[in-house]
Amino acid sequence: MCISISSRFFASAVLIVSCLLLSGCASPKTTSSQTTTTDPTSFWKPYDLYLLASPHPRLYVEVDAVKGCEPSDATLQKLRDFLTTYCHKSEGIEIVRSDVIPIESAREVLPGALARKFINGPPDNSTSAPPAYMYVLFYNDDIIDKRIIETGRHPDPNPLPHPRPRERKPHVDSVPYPAMAFINTHYWYGVMPNERALHEAGHLLGLASRPTDAANHHCLSKNCLMNASINVNLPSLLLGQDPIKQRQLCEKCVAQLQESAKQQPPSNLRFVGPVLVRSEEGYHVLSLPNRVKLIVGNLTDQDCRDFAAAVHAENPSEASDNWRADGLMKEEMIRETAKTREILNRAKEDPYEPVRILAAERRAEQ
Ligand SMILES: [Zn+2]
Ligand SMILES: [Zn+2]
Repeated sequence: MCISISSRFFASAVLIVSCLLLSGCASPKTTSSQTTTTDPTSFWKPYDLYLLASPHPRLYVEVDAVKGCEPSDATLQKLRDFLTTYCHKSEGIEIVRSDVIPIESAREVLPGALARKFINGPPDNSTSAPPAYMYVLFYNDDIIDKRIIETGRHPDPNPLPHPRPRERKPHVDSVPYPAMAFINTHYWYGVMPNERALHEAGHLLGLASRPTDAANHHCLSKNCLMNASINVNLPSLLLGQDPIKQRQLCEKCVAQLQESAKQQPPSNLRFVGPVLVRSEEGYHVLSLPNRVKLIVGNLTDQDCRDFAAAVHAENPSEASDNWRADGLMKEEMIRETAKTREILNRAKEDPYEPVRILAAERRAEQ
């Protein structure tokens, strides 16, 4: 299969590089101040929720797009094929086009804030098992700058400061919410949309977070879809041949997924709607894109719905993309002072830094 190429893209591409085009992906991000281990995400394997049949025998994928950035049917079909191949979901995989976000709503809004505003989660369906959940947002970061230039508020063609996202490359955040792919369709002229989407889906499935033949969550094979760069070979392109050699996973990445699929299901992870829940002894950590809630006491589904509603109600134009954590002490814990202290002391040792900070603050208030 050859990619189509427009004359506009061709002219731009030739100016940029004469032989190979390298289209990179950002490594899955972690909280910047994480310092406890070399890989601060190694404490969990949330991708098992996608790969394994339990605790979620089905998968619901919500696709949102800013108007003009909608993925093609072909891209979503590729995504469906990819997930169907590697995710063991006996009750099926549903990929649903959800919101088309008006451009007016997206202007000057950072992608994380857009996600928090438009993420819906799967519809309530009491007749079937709750699904694992995945969210994919297609957007164009050029929109964020355009209004600033068009309105003349900054006559400088390179205005600063402006709300350009911290990370322009398509990416996945390993914490706190490794259930979402950010896909900037403006990055690298939007070339290779299928490979870009599949590469990020690969990260959501835990690729390539292994100790061998990989580095920084990317495969070292230059012929693999999960290499840090996807290359377009210009000579092949000029000869009418397929210029991309990385449309598939390499054997080692496939082996990693097959090995993961043999593991025991995670006992303390699950989705409640779009909310990813990690349960520890006496407390629970709820997460959405860059938002965390620590709940001390017994968790109910209503707690998750309340958290999602509060995040959804944020004003996206005012929200920053920095993580924010909040805590809730359940009513039954208020009189259980000693037990609460014990739980907070445990939470102060949690592998995730925002939880440790929050627990320490609450413990100091005791
Ligand atoms: Zn990547
Ligand atoms: Zn590979």
